Amino acid sequence: MRVVKAMLLMTAALFGGSLFVNAALAADQAAPQAQPQQAMGPAAPATKQKECPGNPDALGVSRVVEIDTTGGPGFGFQHYKNYDFLQPKEVVLTFDDGPLPGRTTAILAALEAQCTKATFFSVGKVAGGYPEILRDVAKAGHTIGAHTVNHKDLSKMKFDEAKDEIERSFSIVHRAVGGPTAPFFRFPFLRDSPELLKYLADRNIAVFSTDIDSFDFKGPAAPALVKHVMSLLEKRGKGIILMHDIQPHTAAAMPDLLKELKAKGYKIVQLTAKAPVQTLPEFDALIENDIKGMPTALSDRPMTSVIKTISGE
Ligand SMILES: [Zn+2]
Repeated sequence: MRVVKAMLLMTAALFGGSLFVNAALAADQAAPQAQPQQAMGPAAPATKQKECPGNPDALGVSRVVEIDTTGGPGFGFQHYKNYDFLQPKEVVLTFDDGPLPGRTTAILAALEAQCTKATFFSVGKVAGGYPEILRDVAKAGHTIGAHTVNHKDLSKMKFDEAKDEIERSFSIVHRAVGGPTAPFFRFPFLRDSPELLKYLADRNIAVFSTDIDSFDFKGPAAPALVKHVMSLLEKRGKGIILMHDIQPHTAAAMPDLLKELKAKGYKIVQLTAKAPVQTLPEFDALIENDIKGMPTALSDRPMTSVIKTISGE
């Protein structure tokens, strides 16, 4: 077993904070163990995994990075250029706007078949409608952040309304997962504002833009989407890829895209958070009506194992 640990210490100030990216794990094909209901990434550094079941040539996860979100660091060179943490050929997979049945679930299956991991930026009103799918995302060991409740352009909203969108989305996503989630946020349409960036910095929430925008929402057929992403990646050489797990063609493209990434020698980096997001109690109290189909207690044991008739009919 070979585990290479490298500590990247990046002290460039952002909003007065500093960032440590602990880039543990350079073991080829290392992948973290799934952590049930743990959606901030694996709790412990991954060790070199055994084989990927049924797929000896799997893409896997080559490196897991832990992000200290203190001071609200920003990532993705389209907007935030302080932290160039990816090595050549390294790729981060991100999916926005889900979860949705048939789409997110298909993407989960494609990721599972390659034993690889991604980050999901979930929209609160969707997460509240399909909490069970978000729990599956968490159980599969992916990282989950938030992407507002209603997917509006926050840069055009009043500060208090935008803050409400941010905070309630973290509360809903956290409640839907039923466990720790990451203090990772992506602005809808990638539209931030200085005031909101300051707010997120004060809340120790990291902000994600992108390096490679797939524009998958424009509806290219799966083969064209794969070609488009691969050509962007070839030009840039590495990067955080932005996709949408609600798009049918994105789900359809995923098996081929992952195969193509492997074939062209790209390596997947999983983003994880050093500490879970701390939701605010006043917003946690506001979101109970937004959640559908959630158990009131956080147990998902089948009913027959929890309660049974021991006398009578
Ligand atoms: Zn979005």
